[in-house]
Amino acid sequence: MSSAEQAGAERTLGDLPEPSANGYRDTWCGRVLTDRVDDDVRVAGWVNRRRDHGGLIFIDLRDRTGIVQLVFHPDTSGPAFELAHRLRAEDVLSVSGKVVRRDAETINPALPTGEVEVAIAAADLLADSETPPFQIEGYADDVGEDTRLRYRYLDLRRAPMREALLLRHRVTSAMREFLGAEGFVDVETPVLTRSTPEGARDFLVPSRQQQGSFYALPQSPQLYKQLLMVSGFERYFQIARCFRDESTRADRQPEFTQLDVEMSFVGVDDVLEVNERLLAHVFGAVGGPEVTVPMERMAYAEAMERFGTDRPDLRFGLELVDLGSALQGTEFKVFKSVLEGGGSIRGINAGKREVPRKELDGFISRAQELGAKGLVWAFREGDGWRSPTAKFLSDAELAELNRLLGAEEGDLLLLVADKRPVTDAVLGQMRLDLGERFGLIDENEDRLVWIVDFPLFLYGEAEKRWDAMHHPFTSPVGELDPSDPGAALSKAYDVVWNGQEIGGGSIRIHDAKVQGQVFDVLGIAPEIAEARFGFLLEALRYGAPPHGGIAYGIDRFVQRLADADTIRDVIAFPKTASGFDLLTGAPAPVDAVQLREVGVAIHKPGKAGH
Ligand code: ASP
Repeated sequence: MSSAEQAGAERTLGDLPEPSANGYRDTWCGRVLTDRVDDDVRVAGWVNRRRDHGGLIFIDLRDRTGIVQLVFHPDTSGPAFELAHRLRAEDVLSVSGKVVRRDAETINPALPTGEVEVAIAAADLLADSETPPFQIEGYADDVGEDTRLRYRYLDLRRAPMREALLLRHRVTSAMREFLGAEGFVDVETPVLTRSTPEGARDFLVPSRQQQGSFYALPQSPQLYKQLLMVSGFERYFQIARCFRDESTRADRQPEFTQLDVEMSFVGVDDVLEVNERLLAHVFGAVGGPEVTVPMERMAYAEAMERFGTDRPDLRFGLELVDLGSALQGTEFKVFKSVLEGGGSIRGINAGKREVPRKELDGFISRAQELGAKGLVWAFREGDGWRSPTAKFLSDAELAELNRLLGAEEGDLLLLVADKRPVTDAVLGQMRLDLGERFGLIDENEDRLVWIVDFPLFLYGEAEKRWDAMHHPFTSPVGELDPSDPGAALSKAYDVVWNGQEIGGGSIRIHDAKVQGQVFDVLGIAPEIAEARFGFLLEALRYGAPPHGGIAYGIDRFVQRLADADTIRDVIAFPKTASGFDLLTGAPAPVDAVQLREVGVAIHKPGKAGH
């Protein structure tokens, strides 16, 4: 076997054992390599491509492991030669013949099996295929995704799709392998359950036996995994399907898969430690980024301050700088009123850039689109600025702004003045835009970071009430002072990989009294808490160990590893962005009898909310 062949075969076959020899085949297409020259082999698969070269017919046969070339010869292939004439793309075949070396000029270096071909002695047509709606081989990118989803079983025949699903399998296998070896027990939890507390809308399933009552599909196994800790399992995991009925959002799925983990008698450090090793193991097994243990940690407050987000991409700089101190006494009305209203003025030094006026106008519109009233742009020039705003600021203010921003001659500076959440959101996103625009992100670099010390509560301006930042079962750091919810920190953590959150969790409350205080701050009355989570509160009174855990979004995780364009490309049978399964036609109306059985009457078919 040549080394190129070996590398190619390892990539596609891994340690796949030979298929058990039967009447259909005795080896894989991808395993017909030079070490089999002169052997008789039998392979089976789909016609990837057929070429008629006058006297000879060539067929590329495809199975899960790759492609091998078959040659049908009028003199030596017998009746198989006639059959080869009528074969079309995607017909299913079983063939046997001798492996022969190709002539030097017909070697195909693009195929691991490209140095050989099979001289066919006999062929058996196992199934005919209709003309597929799109080509599997030589697939063109212009095939619409709806068509691919409608004929997903054909789409999955394409190599990139197959490879993505095999990668996904390797990821989940590596997770199971690591967690199993560490004593985590795989426990399944119900899919027909009660409302869970992740904050999204539930999918409901009407009960036939209890008409008028509904199951909810779990948004996560959160409460069950906590109950398993009360039960004494100590270490649990599950690759769990979760359901969240959120409105259409690009690249989300109403059902998605989590690696869900929980452990007892642990604090934050213990959970992070085992998860760092989990990540190192999984990434190591599938060729992901290198994990240096211990991983970097950053407090939420610091992430917001420097990057305007709790999912910072640490692969490049352009950090946010607070400029309030330079503008305390400013006469510039816009800045003055923001500071007086308790807002913040922050900026980014985008470095030495030549940017045409039109693009600067584009930056302004982008800032407005992101929620800012405006954007100040400037280039450092001498001791001051070249900027339409320069004339409103004193020399001393300009000098101090330049100093805070570390601005050198020609540096492009972008400033936003607004309420703190707005400057976070706008500059946090513009930093990413600029990083991309100016090519500051090294795609070969990987940065993993834990974000820790989240606030326990967030104040919702719209609803005028406190919300749980993670979920209501997250433990506060230290004693909770219910009179000052904004000051409370939580034992929550997220793991962020190159600017995307891939997992998150927390140490939980294991004391019914603290849990009550948290519900209180959240405005969940004791009767309501009892009605919704009574079973958990009760369990907490029967000796609950300190416990905590984490969950990873597997779809997103694999998407990133596969470098796939959408999350749908790493899910076998995904739904469209608006929640349709184009293959089966779900969701679909049901007949009157089914409705009557579950005691449901359709008010008026139409759009939700109408
Ligand atoms: N249940 C949480 C989630 O689904 C994760 C956790 O806290 O473990 O996001």
